Amino acid sequence: MQKTIIKAYGSLASNKDLKPLDIERRSVGQEDVKIEIDYCGVCHSDIHTVRNDWKGSVYPVVPGHEIIGRVTKVGAHVKNYKVGDIVGVGCLVDSCHTCSSCKNNLEQFCENGATFTYNSADKHMPKQQTYGGYSTDIVVDQQFVLKVPENIDAAAAAPLLCAGITTWSPLRHWNVKKGDKVGIVGLGGLGHMGVKFANALGAHVVMITTSPDKGRDAKTLGAHEVLVSKNQEDMAKHRGSFDFILNTIPVGHEMDPYIGLLKIDATMVLVGAVEPLKPFHGGGIIMGRKRIAGSLIGGIKETQEMLDFCGKHNIVSDIELINMEDINKAYDRVTSSDVKYRFVIDMASLKN
Ligand code: NAP
Ligand code: ZN
Repeated sequence: MQKTIIKAYGSLASNKDLKPLDIERRSVGQEDVKIEIDYCGVCHSDIHTVRNDWKGSVYPVVPGHEIIGRVTKVGAHVKNYKVGDIVGVGCLVDSCHTCSSCKNNLEQFCENGATFTYNSADKHMPKQQTYGGYSTDIVVDQQFVLKVPENIDAAAAAPLLCAGITTWSPLRHWNVKKGDKVGIVGLGGLGHMGVKFANALGAHVVMITTSPDKGRDAKTLGAHEVLVSKNQEDMAKHRGSFDFILNTIPVGHEMDPYIGLLKIDATMVLVGAVEPLKPFHGGGIIMGRKRIAGSLIGGIKETQEMLDFCGKHNIVSDIELINMEDINKAYDRVTSSDVKYRFVIDMASLKN
């Protein structure tokens, strides 16, 4: 198969900064869409993978799964996309299409192993793993390409492809509706989208944060109240009052204080801490029939529905646009909870 060499940014080891790399992309097959990348969001998962926090990273790691770009070529069997279309690619680039998860539009849970946009075994190029959106171009199976509404800003739409769907999917799955009291824990990339979506769905939104100085922003983003989790008195006032909590904390943490906030029969969904949690008291969930659940991004159909909702309601991310060479500084700011509220890389800076 004919391949092309393109420019990218990646890391060669868990303790190394990201730097310019040349990588290979496959040529465009019959089912493929080739995309010139304009913008790529910076997700905390990119950092976890570069730093091998979850183990299993294979180097070089080229992160990036919040991709927006323009179609530059399509394969013979591609029906829904043409050269020039603005499109998106999220966390998934392939799955088996035959298992029950795939048949139920849950490709993220493909029973034969979904192919993630980076650091997955690449079915087309067996000698390498998949490389993500910190690169000039990407070639993706048409079934994993998303249509981006034309009325929303392309750079600010990039984070919808991961932060957007990861918060939208649990809010929809647990049927968050008008009047529900919803807590969003952690005001970062995911959390700020959670606030926007919960507000748009009509919920009473409480931003639960460790950073009192983010309170004013939280309200601008759509929170009705701000609860500083370190303030015991305020935590006590909200005890037993939440219908639903979406927890985006990126590391293992004490769960008991958040469980205490839930009403009887209410659920807290974890999306951030993909690692051992600190022990929590069983009594906290037994007394009140409470539930703790998890959620992983969302399927392709649901991602398109989320993008269409964003087009209709004019919802995008609040971003700081950076150049590719500023990525290592951006990583330091994300890990110190100092992102407002998603970094997006202007990929023109890599091309030039
Ligand atoms: P982020 O931008 O860094 O935001 C995380 C926020 O959590 C921080 O801004 C901070 O908000 C809060 N926080 C950080 N450390 C904390 C601690 N020790 N205790 C309490 N709060 C803390 O990260 P992100 O990109 O939103 O991603 C969040 C997590 O979700 C990451 O672990 C990421 O890998 C994961 N993720 C999961 C999925 C999925 O499908 N399940 C998808 C994407 C990302 P405050 O300052 O407001 O406290
Ligand atoms: Zn992500």
